[in-house]
Amino acid sequence: MNRELVLAQLNKLLGAENVLTDEPMSKHCTFRIGGNADFFVTTCSGGQVAAVVDFAKSESIPYFVTGNGSNLLVADKGYRGIVVNIGRNMSDVTVQGNRINAMAGATLARIANIAASNSLAGLEFASGIPGTLGGAVYMNAGAYGGEMKDVVVSTAYLDTDGNIKEIKGQDHCFGYRRSVFADGGIVLSSVMELKQGNKDDIEALMVDFNNRRRTKQPLEYPSAGSTFKRPEGYFAGKLIEDAGLKGAVIGGACVSEKHSGFIINTGGATCEDVLRLIEHTQNVVFDKFGVKLETEVKYLG
Ligand SMILES: Cc1cc2nc3c(=O)[nH]c(=O)nc-3n(C[C@H](O)[C@H](O)[C@H](O)COP(=O)(O)OP(=O)(O)OC[C@H]3O[C@@H](n4cnc5c(N)ncnc54)[C@H](O)[C@@H]3O)c2cc1C
Repeated sequence: MNRELVLAQLNKLLGAENVLTDEPMSKHCTFRIGGNADFFVTTCSGGQVAAVVDFAKSESIPYFVTGNGSNLLVADKGYRGIVVNIGRNMSDVTVQGNRINAMAGATLARIANIAASNSLAGLEFASGIPGTLGGAVYMNAGAYGGEMKDVVVSTAYLDTDGNIKEIKGQDHCFGYRRSVFADGGIVLSSVMELKQGNKDDIEALMVDFNNRRRTKQPLEYPSAGSTFKRPEGYFAGKLIEDAGLKGAVIGGACVSEKHSGFIINTGGATCEDVLRLIEHTQNVVFDKFGVKLETEVKYLG
């Protein structure tokens, strides 16, 4: 199908206001890196996600789902396909007793704030993670001893056959920075079960966690958070620092002086710069300590 016909069909399915062409991905990820996506579409409902995925499959057009792009590294040449963004237009959050039902595009910060204002404890850990619920469930995001696994009780999702289904509890197969959705499926919404708590205590914990982030993490630079997963028995940042790589630079990419676990974009970094610095870091750490660092950041290209 030619480009004009794809555009016409996407406009029909989603409304022209939700379809962008040749969109710089650097605008849609926290690394601020990446070339153009042929199509960047924003969905407003599970039905629209299903429709656009069905269309992409039927025409053999590659597609990739994003939330806030806070764990993404996009190729300099961009993406030849459809980026399906689940964000602001799918971000309703409702509270019922101890349970919060959030759509995939709601940010963790907002959900955590809503939890706090309803005196619901358990999501404090998530308040400073700059992603959406969908990205956080996919990644089993976690911090300060908490992870999505601890709170998510059920998830509505689009399965690989295009059906909207629900899974509960252990069927999420949450592990370290992974969930069942790594094998396919698109998160549409999740229910989180929290505990009644004291509003002031909940807010104080969130402030404490966020202060710790500001002190320890290079939040003043674009990045995708921790570049590497935590290798069993080690901390990636400590290994990288002990390998003498703190401050190592390739082009505009740099191993943060503040937190060696973060590769930051000091201005004008290309994806190639970051990939070369990742590889260099992996090689030096492996040579010195025999530990293989795996990337936590997802690559799109
Ligand atoms: C400064 C900074 C600090 C960070 N701190 C932490 C931290 O403390 N703990 C932590 O775990 N992470 C952290 N991260 C990484 C990131 O915020 C999390 O991984 C977050 O959960 C990603 O969510 P997102 O919406 O941005 O996902 P994206 O980056 O858009 O996507 C990440 C992956 O999730 C998939 N995905 C996104 N939405 C969906 C969906 N609806 N259905 C299925 N798959 C989907 C994408 O295809 C991709 O593979 C940090 C990042 C930054 C920049």
